[in-house]
Amino acid sequence: MEFRLIDRIRELTAQPRDDVRLGIGDDAAVLAVPAGQELVVAIDTMVEGTHFLPGTTPADLGWKALAVNLSDLAAMGATPAWALLALTLPKADASFVDGFAEGFAQLAQRHRLALVGGDTTGGPLCISVAVHGFVPPGQALTRAGAQVGDEVLVTGTLGDALAGLYALREPPHDDRRRAALRQSLIERLTRPEPRVAAGIALRGLASACVDISDGLLADLGHICDASGVGAGLEAAQLPRSPALRELHGEDKSIQLALGGGDNYELCFTVPPERLAAALSALAETGCPVTRIGRIVEGRDVRVRAADGGALAVTMKGWEHFA
Ligand code: ADP
Ligand code: MG
Repeated sequence: MEFRLIDRIRELTAQPRDDVRLGIGDDAAVLAVPAGQELVVAIDTMVEGTHFLPGTTPADLGWKALAVNLSDLAAMGATPAWALLALTLPKADASFVDGFAEGFAQLAQRHRLALVGGDTTGGPLCISVAVHGFVPPGQALTRAGAQVGDEVLVTGTLGDALAGLYALREPPHDDRRRAALRQSLIERLTRPEPRVAAGIALRGLASACVDISDGLLADLGHICDASGVGAGLEAAQLPRSPALRELHGEDKSIQLALGGGDNYELCFTVPPERLAAALSALAETGCPVTRIGRIVEGRDVRVRAADGGALAVTMKGWEHFA
């Protein structure tokens, strides 16, 4: 449809790359996978009301639709290269498309990612992005491979995005300090930073890796299922932002860190003999990282409270908000 809209998308997301032989504008794109690399691909769909609240700005949507996909590449240790974008729009709205493409391009440029094609149709607002990246042969990080005795680590801080969602639903705060803290949590929800450099740094070092989209317990559970192991976590060690702690307190912030989804940090395991190498590789990328527990025998993820007893988890992995 709307060639003007597609032209705008092409202009706003322009990113020259030698490996794009033919980009937007023909019946299909022609791409050259670099010699000696494996291709890693992923796709994620965002539906209004299921994955984002009505009223989310177009620029935030453009950023996030790409961010959740780059996070999947990050979890595999892949270097991003190309994307496809399928947009279903209620109407041919040029200002929506401009805002969306600007948000998308802001993140794409940081990773030198080229948008090489897509599809544009009418219907209820729905966005699908497919991404493509590269890894050296055999070096993709997977969910399988964690072994008993491995350390469990996470990047960044946990729980902020879910707290940001709560903040969006509450009336604005009078207290300026609390309002600013809330805003910082909302930005973790709307503008997640995929941990691409960290994923690449962990190639050859992590034994398993996953990105946290559904919540730490749910996603670490995927590593445990795929690897045939269990995990023991220390609640007190879960990394939480100062804003989360101040607004929600110790106990609630732990529950949010365990169950809150949508934060797009990486959770990964490292054999003890490679821990020092992994920590220094991550330090070089500037990515904060925290040890939160160990891989154990069994199949469950268990959490130990500060007093040494088992922590009752009140917030299980969170599917999507409706
Ligand atoms: P066709 O009918 O041959 O699929 P389209 O009119 O759907 O052609 O698309 C024309 C060109 O624009 C194609 O190169 C397609 O990949 C690209 N395109 C369409 N929609 C988008 C979009 N939302 N984002 C990026 N490229 C798009
Ligand atoms: Mg088409």
